[in-house]
Amino acid sequence: MLTYKFLEKQDPEVMDVVRREARRQADELELIASENYASSAVLEAMGTVLTNKYSEGYPGHRYYGGNQIIDDIENIAVQRAKKLFSAEYANVQPLSGSPANAAVYFAFLKPGDKVMGLKLDHGGHLSHGHPVNFSGMLYNFVQYEVDSGTGRIDMNEVAKIARKEKPKMIVAGFSAYSREIEWKRFKEIANEIGAYTFADIAHTAGLISAGKMDNPVPLFDVISTTTHKTLRGPRGAIIMCKEKYARDVDRAVFPGIQGGPHDHITAAKAVALGEALEEDFKQYAEQVIINARTMADEFLKMDYNVISGGTDNHLMVVDMANKGITGKDAEQLLERIGISVSRSTIPNDPNPPMNPSGVRLGTPAVTTRGMKEEEIKKIVDWINKAIEHKDDKISSRKIKNEIHELCLQFSVPGA
Ligand SMILES: *Cc1c(COP(=O)(O)O)cnc(C)c1O
Repeated sequence: MLTYKFLEKQDPEVMDVVRREARRQADELELIASENYASSAVLEAMGTVLTNKYSEGYPGHRYYGGNQIIDDIENIAVQRAKKLFSAEYANVQPLSGSPANAAVYFAFLKPGDKVMGLKLDHGGHLSHGHPVNFSGMLYNFVQYEVDSGTGRIDMNEVAKIARKEKPKMIVAGFSAYSREIEWKRFKEIANEIGAYTFADIAHTAGLISAGKMDNPVPLFDVISTTTHKTLRGPRGAIIMCKEKYARDVDRAVFPGIQGGPHDHITAAKAVALGEALEEDFKQYAEQVIINARTMADEFLKMDYNVISGGTDNHLMVVDMANKGITGKDAEQLLERIGISVSRSTIPNDPNPPMNPSGVRLGTPAVTTRGMKEEEIKKIVDWINKAIEHKDDKISSRKIKNEIHELCLQFSVPGA
């Protein structure tokens, strides 16, 4: 574990929480598709004096004095983001994914404008137009879905809705979809009706940056990504765009949505982007996908209903209905044996979002620990056994011990 000697001495109560959470992260298997383990260098960058600075504005144009040095860190992060994704322009200030998306809409749209996005229970994100989210309240969203037979986005259906509704912007991206996105086709459809193209690559940014999935950045007008999912950085986000939209995007982030950027987080983003530019990271991204495919194949062999029949990326959604357990119960059952997953809706879910039919599983975090196909096969076997023997306490205790044994062999950065 990183040393926290001042925290330890001054505030044992908080230190105790940090220590217990570090232990939990090391002792359990993290299969939540949106989570990962940031490196020790990324963690250290977040704990620096850069947090003390106010730097509203952009490098060279700040509203506070004393920003000559801070400008350097923001410039480094911007340069690395542009290089990593082949972007014309990057803004590294967004505090997280949802605020980044708010800034994108703010830059390109007026309240009430029509936008098209993937429906939440079909794999979209809240900020893609769900009625309880600011996006659904401020903008007039029409939603597309995945095909109920194939579990994939049906591009003919997308084209049909786009031609009929003529949205000002089309959003492509997801939180729970396991297939490659046809960016080119989205772009053609948008061109046909004169709509802006917005790619939200929050989940797959790390895989895209490593060249393991198609990159929409050179193609689309504007792209947002979180930095803490497959990209393995600090919690935060980045917006990239064509040079001609740079001014609008910058103004939307500050002063439109945010005040001062979190410079210590910008430093950590720069470190993570630096890591992602290394050859090691490409191998990591490749293994994330191999592990996810192995996991999906194992589930299919055991007669689990993997939505769309497999995966092209780091995640999958599994419908648990034929196994006689709901998504919420599966989440809680697996938590008891030391595996974290998140309940998930399935397309056209007959059950409510608090207790949906599926679970979403992902491989970014276990791959960071160094786990490969062999371990993934064991993990799926444990999950299956736990579900088959869900009322057997002795069996679940045994599985929990076996999982703990495996975790001891694979270290976690910072824990
Ligand atoms: C995770 C996610 C976000 C939001 O990120 P936060 O940092 O949690 O606000 C936005 N869009 C997509 C597609 C996501 O998966």
